[in-house]
This record gives sequence, C-alpha cells and structure tokens, in this order.
Amino acid sequence: MAKEDPTWQELFAAATDALKAWRASHPEATFNDIEENVDDELARLRAQLLQDLAHASPAADWRGQDRENRPVCPDCGAPLQANGEQVRRVMTDREQEVALKRQQGRCGQCGRTFFPSG
Ligand SMILES: [Zn+2]
Repeated sequence: MAKEDPTWQELFAAATDALKAWRASHPEATFNDIEENVDDELARLRAQLLQDLAHASPAADWRGQDRENRPVCPDCGAPLQANGEQVRRVMTDREQEVALKRQQGRCGQCGRTFFPSG
C-alpha cells in the first residue's frame, strides 16, 4: 500500500520547522521579512486544507452511490452516471495551486454531460 498523504498535523509541523530553520539562518530578518515567510508557509497549508476539504464533500465523488443518492440531470431528472474524473486547477491567493477532482456526470436518458455542483 502506498504511503498516505501527510496529515495536516505533519504539514503544520513541517511548516513550523521550516520557519524556525529559516529564522535561525536569517538573524537579521526584519519583521516584514518574517511576516512574508510566515504568510508563504501558511499559504501552502491553506491550499492543502482547501483541497482536502473540497474533496471531503460527498458531491465530490458520487460513484457507487445508489441511484437515489446520485445527482440528477437538470433537464430530464434521470440519475447521472459517472463519466470519468476531471481535475480543475485553481489558484488561491499567494499563487498556490489546488487540484480539485470532480466527477463528470452523464445523463443516461438524454446524454447530456456536466459537473454536478459540489
Ligand atoms: Zn437528461
């Protein structure tokens, strides 16, 4: 089994370690320099939290759900069939990329494809 993604605690510990190491090697850093570094580290954490929390939504992956729990076609109301996963990349502030995986749906009745909200 592949190693699991780092937990938030591990990411936070890595961020604070990086900040401490940076500070130790920059004894002359100004308050603004320190603030800039803290913001950069927090931005990475923030992006990871956003990505993980976005995927925690049941709407993010509805494959294998019972028909009545699946999103329905807005045109004809038939339950959607999973039609493959797509990744949408969004940039947060401070230019952190978040990869949002979304399941595309296809209506078995009218053939329309789209991404259910979630
Ligand atoms: Zn339809």
